Amino acid sequence: NAHEIDIKQLGTIARRAFPPCMLSLYSTLTNQNHLKHFGRLQLILFLKGIGVKMEDALYLYRSEFTKKMEPDKFDKEHSYNIRHSYGKEGKRTNYTPYACMKVINLNGGGAGETHGCPFKTFEANQLNKFLADNISNPEPGEVREIIDLAKNKHYQICCTKYFQTKNPGVKLNSIIEHPNQYFELSYSDRN
Ligand code: SF4
Repeated sequence: NAHEIDIKQLGTIARRAFPPCMLSLYSTLTNQNHLKHFGRLQLILFLKGIGVKMEDALYLYRSEFTKKMEPDKFDKEHSYNIRHSYGKEGKRTNYTPYACMKVINLNGGGAGETHGCPFKTFEANQLNKFLADNISNPEPGEVREIIDLAKNKHYQICCTKYFQTKNPGVKLNSIIEHPNQYFELSYSDRN
């Protein structure tokens, strides 16, 4: 299901069609110019899955990281891992993007970490802000409902509701089970 993704448009695409877990990582990458280990991995495999070419993924990470890091250091410490995730180094394993269960079980939420599923890792006020920033004109009670569901650990149901508020035209046959499934449904809806 890979698409031709124009890396220069990735910010717009992210705001429109990335699930919260990946939008949160993308925002950290572009605002703080860094991601910790699991965050780098979670995002890169997702990007690979949606069709971002390896050269473009390298360009994205490199241009952000090197706002705070020497290019040499980036090339030494990070380029290999990105190529590795794309199956171009080492055993050339074709790593698959993480499904929701895997992302949820990554936990996250430690200092400076943004990997994991935000419905699990965000504090209630952080989740509230994220939802307010990303859902335009919510129905009354919608945000509250998602926050309550998150409190009760129904993370994928939260995500399904969030998806529906953002993509009212798409009929879902199941709950959201994979960040790349989320992207496919959302992206195809508008393209
Ligand atoms: Fe990402 Fe899945 Fe969590 Fe949604 S439920 S934010 S797709 S991990």
